[in-house]
Amino acid sequence: MQAPLRRKIILAEMDNLNSKGINCSACPGHCCTAVANSMQTTPLETQDVLNYLRESGRWTMELKQKLQATVDKFRLDSIPGNGKRSYLRKTYDCPFFEGKSHGCTIPREVKPYGCLGFNPSAPHETEGKSCSSDQSLLLKRESAHPEESSVNTDLSKKYQLWWEKRPLPLALLEAEKSGM
Ligand code: SF4
Ligand code: SF4
Repeated sequence: MQAPLRRKIILAEMDNLNSKGINCSACPGHCCTAVANSMQTTPLETQDVLNYLRESGRWTMELKQKLQATVDKFRLDSIPGNGKRSYLRKTYDCPFFEGKSHGCTIPREVKPYGCLGFNPSAPHETEGKSCSSDQSLLLKRESAHPEESSVNTDLSKKYQLWWEKRPLPLALLEAEKSGM
């Protein structure tokens, strides 16, 4: 199933929140920086972002160097764990965050589910105090797409990925290295 369809349930809720004036427009983006961001992606989520970056001409050497610099700076490749459930999630400045004025440069149709499910619950949020991850919404989306589990298993087998989730910059670099 295409990436936007797999995100439809979450996007509809974001539109619903936005219709009540609840959105991120007044916030400098705390959840995309090392203040609070520890986003990890599955092979399928990683593939969604990688496909977008390639199709839009953004998968350049410059971007790959930026991703590697993030991995090095925040030591994202030394997270303890077995790739199934990390014992520790490290926070990092997301390399796709372009500051308050530009925000996230990944379109919402391919954005990691966890990014989409993290939203404010009050209008004019500026500090992230009302923000949280909507677990029931994320679970609802997951339940609507039971096929995803086997798609991830197939991707892991095909590209010999040993992990189930990795921090986004590392996941993208490792996915490419594995031939994805
Ligand atoms: S989810 Fe919250 S912390 Fe993140 S950008 Fe939006 S308002 Fe800011
Ligand atoms: S992908 Fe976008 S929304 Fe997610 S952490 Fe990075 S900048 Fe923020």
